[in-house]
Amino acid sequence: MVALPGDAGVIADAPGLRSLPLVGHERGLARAFPEIVEASRACRFGDCTHTHEPGCAVREAEDAGQIDSLRLETFQNLASSMRVSAQMLDPDVHL
Ligand SMILES: [Zn+2]
Repeated sequence: MVALPGDAGVIADAPGLRSLPLVGHERGLARAFPEIVEASRACRFGDCTHTHEPGCAVREAEDAGQIDSLRLETFQNLASSMRVSAQMLDPDVHL
């Protein structure tokens, strides 16, 4: 068991535990990447993944140098993992 800083909780290992699903951390993701969340308000589609949709304001901001490409890639990887985890836990959930 590993204690996380502050009141963030603990990480506990258990037999059979292979991964930690990233579910329910949307607010944390938004706080860690505020520039992406701000830019996404101007995306054409409300469910934009910022990967391929036309009218994506996040990718436009990246192209303009306003959003760091590595940070956007990290955001997209985390968001994708969260969508996969949510669908594994509840196939009826579509994020
Ligand atoms: Zn977008």
